[in-house]
Amino acid sequence: MLDEDYQALLEELHETYKSFDEGTLPTYIPELSLVNPQDFGISLTLLDGRSFHVGHSQRTFTIQSMVKPFLYGIAMEQLGEEAVLERIGVEPTGDAFNTIKLQPKTHRPYNPMVNAGAIVLANLIQGDNHREKIVTIKKTLEDFSASDLGFDIRVYTSEKAMGHHNRAMAYLMLNFGILTGHVEEILESYFQACSFMVTTKDLAAMAATLANKGVNPLTQKEVMQPRTIKNIVCVMMTCGMYDFAGQWSYTVGIPAKSGVSGGIIGVVPGRMGISVYSPLLDETGTSVRGIRVFQELSRRLDLSIY
Ligand code: GLN
Repeated sequence: MLDEDYQALLEELHETYKSFDEGTLPTYIPELSLVNPQDFGISLTLLDGRSFHVGHSQRTFTIQSMVKPFLYGIAMEQLGEEAVLERIGVEPTGDAFNTIKLQPKTHRPYNPMVNAGAIVLANLIQGDNHREKIVTIKKTLEDFSASDLGFDIRVYTSEKAMGHHNRAMAYLMLNFGILTGHVEEILESYFQACSFMVTTKDLAAMAATLANKGVNPLTQKEVMQPRTIKNIVCVMMTCGMYDFAGQWSYTVGIPAKSGVSGGIIGVVPGRMGISVYSPLLDETGTSVRGIRVFQELSRRLDLSIY
């Protein structure tokens, strides 16, 4: 497809869905409800490095749960697959992102895409303290996005002040020996990891690097091993959209991850990375315009992996 055709398609979808105002802003922390509900950006990066953007593709928002696939990759590359599997499963939950359910017998979180799993990842990632861990996480995100990322201190402070649900889960996992060390120190890494600032442009490049087996198509840098990428993309497909994963699989068919800030990243293996940002969310915490745009892009460009 020609550059003009990609650009025209994104512009058409942006025009069609910008008047959609279904959904609500998240209220679990005040900062996330202060954004403009009209914000709407779409970015698409092909594996030859061509990128297309429309709308608010340069607007920053916090990465939130879209950081989880990358935390999973870091932990697997540092500790090996087996060590990570011992502490976190790969089963979808059918439950919300903050489910308190752990797997029977092992007490592992069901998968690395729910909060409980990502909190264990924050524990597993190597580093003497949260500062060292966050340096590794930032460097990895920047290698994936090929850009320098900022940090939203207000969102982070708020997450930390209001994060008692995450804290409760962390203590539960400490009780079962799934977490080791100090809960507040572990949560520090988790809350900070969720508070990096990204644009759809950054996220599309990150998704394209996943689609390209770990080689960033913009820099040609080998960021992670193909085997790690396979594992990440697999859990994105089965668990990345939480209790919307089945419908997403059926209507979009692209491995993806949503975040409560209103972003979605989609990985089309061997073809492209896509990102949409629009902060109005449905009841599963997924961007409403994001779902629509992905459904239509999948249909029009024949992107479903099935
Ligand atoms: N920081 C959020 C939390 O821990 C991330 C959740 C999300 O994006 N779904 O609650």
